[in-house]
Amino acid sequence: MSQALSDLSPQSPITPVKLDLDDQFQFACHNRIACFNKCCQSIDIQLTPYDILRLKTRLGLTAREFLFRHTVPFEMDGHGVPGLKLRTRDETTQCPFLTEQGCGVYEDRPTACRYYALGLMSMRKKDSPTDEDSYFVVKEEHCLGHDEPQTQTVRAYRESQGVDVYDDMNREWRQVVLKKRSCGPTIGKPSDRSLQLFFLASYDLDGFRDFVGTPSFDEVYVVAPEERERLMQDDVALMRFAFRFLKQSLFGENTIPERPGAMEKRLARRKERLEAGAAGEAR
Ligand code: SF4
Ligand code: SF4
Repeated sequence: MSQALSDLSPQSPITPVKLDLDDQFQFACHNRIACFNKCCQSIDIQLTPYDILRLKTRLGLTAREFLFRHTVPFEMDGHGVPGLKLRTRDETTQCPFLTEQGCGVYEDRPTACRYYALGLMSMRKKDSPTDEDSYFVVKEEHCLGHDEPQTQTVRAYRESQGVDVYDDMNREWRQVVLKKRSCGPTIGKPSDRSLQLFFLASYDLDGFRDFVGTPSFDEVYVVAPEERERLMQDDVALMRFAFRFLKQSLFGENTIPERPGAMEKRLARRKERLEAGAAGEAR
């Protein structure tokens, strides 16, 4: 399950026909089909921040516990921007949530599982403020759903799979990732600090909550007391705030008000500390 949309080699299961929301395609999946569960036997699933939020909540885990037990890190691009994939069951390629009856986390299954057998490609044209989404059918040999006599529009399929909510939740994050990729070498390799912040704000929601609660965060950013209170209680509000924070810290967008001169003071203090540390080591 899951296929990189850049892989359009002759062996690729992606049908190279671009579909829009109102285009039809033939596909159906149900528990009486001969291939039931086959797609979950060999997975390669990239997780989004909202996937992690939903799964960790369902499993009653903290974000860190979820990351430790259920994810494997990878680099999303040549600059080392961190991504996470769902860890497979020990010594197999199987999804850890697969049961004989089907998906054991169905209501909270990740975005990639909801899209299957469609692939999504998002692009933003130069000078356009919005992304353009298009879709592709992914036909893997083991999947018999393409032979079922059911057709539907992409729009109806997305709705039936609950994709819209997930896409809406992840939209701003996807924009950050796309922008990061399209900046490419013009911006150069991101600093280790910015990669750590990307990881924290994207995946480790509990760690990000701790960070927002620190005096040093408060020293730089202006967050109204009632909003701060909400961020401490509400995971979805915190995740959306984290995406705003990423836009600000990675691209300098003015998404969270800053206290005048606070960042400069903080950077100067950090520089002093680093210099003092280096001088101490040299002695
Ligand atoms: S999360 Fe559910 S649908 Fe997705 S691969 Fe695992 S078992 Fe299959
Ligand atoms: S039809 Fe395709 S998606 Fe459905 S269970 Fe079979 S292999 Fe999986």
